[in-house]
Amino acid sequence: MVDSNSDTNFRSHAPGHWPEATASQWNDYKWQLKNRVSNLADLESRLNLTSEERAGVLLAGNKLAMSITPHFFNLIDPDDPNCPIRRQVIPRLEEAWTAPEEMADPCGEDSHMPVPGLVHRYPDRVLFLVTDRCASYCRYCTRSRVVSGVGEQRLETQWEAAFEYLEKTPQVRDVLLSGGDPLLLSDAKLEKIISRLRAIPHIQFIRIGSRIPIFLPQRITPELCTMLNKYHPLFISIHSNHPKELTSEVRDALGRLADAGIPLGNQSVLLKDVNDSVEVQKALVHKLLMCRARPYYLYQCDLITGSSHLRTSVSAGLEVIEGLRGHTTGYAVPQFVIDGPGGGGKIPLNPDYIVQRDHERVVLRNYEGETFEYPEPTPAPAAALAALKEQSSCCS
Ligand SMILES: *Cc1c(COP(=O)(O)O)cnc(C)c1O
Ligand code: SF4
Repeated sequence: MVDSNSDTNFRSHAPGHWPEATASQWNDYKWQLKNRVSNLADLESRLNLTSEERAGVLLAGNKLAMSITPHFFNLIDPDDPNCPIRRQVIPRLEEAWTAPEEMADPCGEDSHMPVPGLVHRYPDRVLFLVTDRCASYCRYCTRSRVVSGVGEQRLETQWEAAFEYLEKTPQVRDVLLSGGDPLLLSDAKLEKIISRLRAIPHIQFIRIGSRIPIFLPQRITPELCTMLNKYHPLFISIHSNHPKELTSEVRDALGRLADAGIPLGNQSVLLKDVNDSVEVQKALVHKLLMCRARPYYLYQCDLITGSSHLRTSVSAGLEVIEGLRGHTTGYAVPQFVIDGPGGGGKIPLNPDYIVQRDHERVVLRNYEGETFEYPEPTPAPAAALAALKEQSSCCS
């Protein structure tokens, strides 16, 4: 059975809508960036838009820019307005509506910044916002208040103050570079940031959050990989939501990062009619493992302004985990989390496998619904131990 929703093949979609592009242009990330689809005329010349999409594009201009790399654009099914790729990057009318529960800064990041651009919410690690630009823009972006540079706020990272804060804060042992997309910075600029962090003795662990391997795999050049390889331990968290995103180019780009010794995790956002089913998630996590990327987090979509059409119920996420755990490779199962609205941080959610619990035992159910009992430890009675000791002395 062939199901386009759970595409398990790795294939290239190039050159698709750009038949005039030469192979060397197509493989050049600068060409990809220059040729992004970022206005209504260009979009309509390639795709028949629904009236909801057309209105969405017109209304999105002062909230979060539209921009889609040719590589990613080719994954869109032109005949399906509900295509899971399309819903992620083409604005829709509903985006202009703000539900009462929605917020501009749903994770309360702005109130946890000791220095503009540096979010210090957990005791031992920080989120460092190093750019406000991405290769393409996700309509549900939790940082759309600053990302793309057209929204209500500007990202004004105070570089020197941020480095000085990190230098004098020894409890920070883990720095997560994010934005925007750090891999959109030049190799030189990125190396300047990473080498400065590496020079701080208490910073043990550096990681980069990036959707570039998915939106713009051409950016993962051998030169970039060679540079990153000098700063281990360095991890990268990619962001992929649907199996269709894992093309042969993406697989090869992830392979280059993995070959440079970079452990890869994937963060996925649970999105309505994009990936909120066990079937799609299972195909996604299996393809991720084939790309050497370990599913890390599955996020319940943040309460970002204009996201109600993309958010799905919490129970959909729990059902996904229920449908994966035990049924497939443990490495393939991400942790489902909700970022506590207003600044609570990531809170793990799990299906309930504990049926009953008291101080003597716990009654559990397994992935097939069978129940099992695990007794809590009972200390050996003193009298029994004394008798055993007696026995040992008579045998010696
Ligand atoms: C997600 C996040 C981190 C990293 O959290 P991990 O659970 O360690 O991946 C750090 N700081 C902030 C503000 C975050 O949102
Ligand atoms: S890549 Fe990340 S930061 Fe950029 S728009 Fe998408 S979710 Fe936001």
